Amino acid sequence: MTAQNESPRVPVREGLFSGPLSDLDRVTLAGSRCSSCGETSLGSKTLCANCGKETVRDIALGTRGTLWTYTVVRHRPPGNYKGPEPFAPFGLGLVELPEGVRVMAPIHCDVDKLKIGLPLRFKPYLRKDDGREVVAFAFEMEETEAANV
Ligand SMILES: [Zn+2]
Repeated sequence: MTAQNESPRVPVREGLFSGPLSDLDRVTLAGSRCSSCGETSLGSKTLCANCGKETVRDIALGTRGTLWTYTVVRHRPPGNYKGPEPFAPFGLGLVELPEGVRVMAPIHCDVDKLKIGLPLRFKPYLRKDDGREVVAFAFEMEETEAANV
C-alpha cells in the first residue's frame, strides 16, 4: 500500500534515476549498457545509441566520479532558473563516472576549489517546483578532499 496523501516525488527527467525516489541515499543515476557492443550511456534506454540494437539493459551508474572539465557560471542564467536565491556563482562540470559515461551537472562546492581531476560524489537533492518535490542532482566534493583543501 502506498501513502496516497503524500505528493509523489518526480525525477527532474524521466528515466534518469535508479532506486527509490523516497530514499535519496539509495538513488543513483540510471544507465544502460548494450550487451552487443558494450556502449554504456546515461539514462534508461530501449535501443543502443551506438549500434541500434535492442540488447540494452538498465544498470545503476557509480556514485563516485572525477571532474573531467568545468566552467564557472557567474551570471544568473536567463529563463526559468531554478537554483538557489539569491543567485550565487556555481560550478558546472562534466563528471566522468567509473563506467566512462560523462555527465553534465552542477558542482556543489566553493568555485575556487574546482580543478580538473577533482574526486566527486553524486548528490541527489530535493527542490520544490509548483508544490511538487522534484529530485534533481549535483556532484559534491568528497569529504576527505574537502577536509584537506
Ligand atoms: Zn550497442
